[in-house]
Amino acid sequence: MDAARLKQSWSLVAAHGDQVPLYFYSTLFLTHPETRQMFPTNMAGQRDRLVTALAHIVTNVDQVDRLVGFLRDLGADHRKFAVRPEHYPAVGEALLATLAHFLGDQWSEELAQDWAAAYGLVSQVMIEAAQAAEAVNPPWWVAEIVAHERRTFDVAVLTLRPQYLLPFTPGQSIGVSHPTVRSWRYYSPANAPRADGTLELHVRAAPGGAVSSRLVYGSAVGDQLHLAAPVGDRLTLWSAGSSDLLLLAGGTGWAPVKALVEQVAAEGSQRRVDLYVGARSRSEFYDSDAIDKLAASFPWLTVTYVVSMDPLRPGGFQHVADRALADGDWRSRHVFVCGSDEMVAHSVQALTQAGYHAGQLHHEGFGQHWYGPAWRTAVDEAVVPDNSPGGAR
Ligand SMILES: Cc1cc2nc3c(=O)[nH]c(=O)nc-3n(C[C@H](O)[C@H](O)[C@H](O)COP(=O)(O)OP(=O)(O)OC[C@H]3O[C@@H](n4cnc5c(N)ncnc54)[C@H](O)[C@@H]3O)c2cc1C
Repeated sequence: MDAARLKQSWSLVAAHGDQVPLYFYSTLFLTHPETRQMFPTNMAGQRDRLVTALAHIVTNVDQVDRLVGFLRDLGADHRKFAVRPEHYPAVGEALLATLAHFLGDQWSEELAQDWAAAYGLVSQVMIEAAQAAEAVNPPWWVAEIVAHERRTFDVAVLTLRPQYLLPFTPGQSIGVSHPTVRSWRYYSPANAPRADGTLELHVRAAPGGAVSSRLVYGSAVGDQLHLAAPVGDRLTLWSAGSSDLLLLAGGTGWAPVKALVEQVAAEGSQRRVDLYVGARSRSEFYDSDAIDKLAASFPWLTVTYVVSMDPLRPGGFQHVADRALADGDWRSRHVFVCGSDEMVAHSVQALTQAGYHAGQLHHEGFGQHWYGPAWRTAVDEAVVPDNSPGGAR
């Protein structure tokens, strides 16, 4: 298999932009109509995902270690779409037909063999990972909404009770799907694991957003949701040792950060934790009762609220990270940042400029329309397209 030839041919195909996924899905659904039900009703967001995933695979085709981890996660995760081994050849055929179509005269017998071999390996790793995951977790969990509170116009706090225990680590995210929408999005449990197995989710309705709007405005107690296995390690405490923490949260980025605070409380460690919670206006602190209660319960926790657009404050917009940096020197700590992509990007830049090093910064933005957080840990950020529809978190 000639990796350079694969990459070069992919760059020629990818230059056709949106036409590529359009052609791919049309071919797939025409030749294998049974696969249509695995995809959302509205395919708009799906197109970016396919191209992003293929770009990542092809870009890393000569870095087998990196790619295999990514493909394993992908294979295990795809069980939630009810993908079975017999679906893989259908996708492979549609992929090769798409490449042949866009490469025209440049599509050769050698190239066809290279792509068929590469796809064969990709599908083999994904199928094996899916089979291995069967022994550990179900493809998805059914969960009932046992509490649904609209805290602000566009934020709801949901409590879910999965039918079977869904194990996760604070800072991870889980896939969530409303059965009527058939699309999956990631949301971060806002609690450390509980004895009764319930999960708290904080959901902001993105304008026109398929899943978040349904969860905030179109769901009620008693409704059932589907949940998928937890993913991601960016915001877990795994790599923070026993260090003191600086936590920076913007909007519903507070959810995984709340889970971290609860975990610190549960582990009974001696860490000091300084938490900065940001919102555009005072009325958008949708969970302040819980935050105040945590601050009152734990002497090791200090909380600062940051209103980013306070009309009474001279100097205009204030970022959470800028406020934290103005308040102290936290360079001996591990820093966790979660919020919109813009909030996270600004925070990382400000902290880096202030002398914080990459190994002590842990961050996750919610805006990227990427397959999921598990991948992003392994991904060269450069291949993630920056054309996602913004960080409505
Ligand atoms: C790891 C992770 C954890 C997350 N955790 C949380 C969390 O705890 N809480 C939370 O609130 N969010 C969280 N998110 C964000 C969440 O997953 C969703 O992305 C968000 O809720 C929007 O999903 P949606 O289906 O409602 O919107 P989508 O339907 O995906 O649309 C998103 C936005 O893009 C616009 N849009 C959609 N399609 C197009 C198009 N074709 N062209 C242009 N614009 C378009 C929509 O109008 C909308 O404004 C997390 C994201 C990640 C990656």
